[in-house]
Amino acid sequence: MDLTTLTHTELSERLTALREEYAGLQDRGLNLDLTRGKPSAGQLELSRPLLGLPGEGGHTAQDGTDTRNYGGLQGLPELRAAFSEALQVPVEQLVAFGNSSLELMYEAMVDAVLFGLPGGSAPWPRQGRTAMLCPVPGYDRHFAVCEKLGIDMIPVAMTADGPDMDEVERWVTEERVKGIWCVPRYSNPTGVVYTPETVRRLAAMETAAGDFRVFWDNAYAVHHLGEGAPQPADILSLSAEHGHPDRVFVFGSTSKITMAGSGVAFFGSSHANVSWLLGHLSRRTIGPDKVNQLRHARFLPDAEAVRAHMERHAELLRPRFELVHTILDKRLGGSGVASWTRPRGGYFVSLDVLGGCAARVVGLAEEAGIALTPAGATFPYGKDPQDRNIRIAPSYPGLDELRDALEGLALCVELAATERLLA
Ligand code: PLP
Repeated sequence: MDLTTLTHTELSERLTALREEYAGLQDRGLNLDLTRGKPSAGQLELSRPLLGLPGEGGHTAQDGTDTRNYGGLQGLPELRAAFSEALQVPVEQLVAFGNSSLELMYEAMVDAVLFGLPGGSAPWPRQGRTAMLCPVPGYDRHFAVCEKLGIDMIPVAMTADGPDMDEVERWVTEERVKGIWCVPRYSNPTGVVYTPETVRRLAAMETAAGDFRVFWDNAYAVHHLGEGAPQPADILSLSAEHGHPDRVFVFGSTSKITMAGSGVAFFGSSHANVSWLLGHLSRRTIGPDKVNQLRHARFLPDAEAVRAHMERHAELLRPRFELVHTILDKRLGGSGVASWTRPRGGYFVSLDVLGGCAARVVGLAEEAGIALTPAGATFPYGKDPQDRNIRIAPSYPGLDELRDALEGLALCVELAATERLLA
């Protein structure tokens, strides 16, 4: 039923019915969580063999390195080789470090702020106010890094092809614009895959800032839900071809491949940028946890092993994403007050509700025991100017819990919209 075409009387009747239904929902005393995109326990089980690796006496890497000792700042070559294809970074330009790519993004930005970047005249703050372009809706933790470091954020619209490149090309003519956050494949939260043309334009555009960087957060590089995954263009090579070899910082991790808290993170870039980062990391540590890297390399020895493993994740994730679409279609399809994305991979669905309703939906859901990511979280400073966007993370709950949570959410969307249309 298209709520936007109902008369005042029809809407009032609908509101009464929805309020009754909502009271019933509250009475159920639910305690459900659709907030963070965490792997489910079943997904973590897929990597159980890691817990027995590298095994007693199995601590020697292919090149003879005793992984128990200090050193090897750039990370184990065999692990870098296994992830080179997925991240589209040559092995010698790839760093394996720590357990969190977000930490590496933070590190890179802190180093840009404290020390400056190759191609830059000075540390960022000494060049005046600096800003990052933020495709919206986007990933709240990217925005939190900027906010923490005093870097301004400029929202740019996300389209079905990636960030609106006309807008991006206009902004980068300003010298204060130092970079852009990108999640190129299965963006968080929309699931958008950047088209080859978007990637080409990011690689080719002229920027006023000599130290401009694309923060290419390829968190979901291999996280497909089905066959025929679109392969984005190789931004590192393209940037070099267009005369901007230092433009791109590639990030990735095994957080949603093996164990979210005990994986391995990666950084890939030009030789100059890799030396720059390693120079800073070398002051922080004598080397990363190579035993963890070795057990990852034993568990996932090459790109083919990564692909096969990700197919097993997809088997667990697919039904959850299908359930999201089934329930939203059933309850909100044709309602005129909601639209949502249908990603082919990644961890999220982006739901747009009637303007001015997202915070109300999240509040209603919370009062009914369904935790949602706070409204506005997908925008810089937590402020969604249209109060429309809600991020759904279906990976973690079991299917029954997910069904309850989504049916409750859909009811809240309809209730909030009806209230709004009557206001
Ligand atoms: N980047 C994106 C786009 C994410 O969605 C997430 C987690 O949800 C991360 C990075 C975090 O990655 P890591 O666990 O490697 O720090």
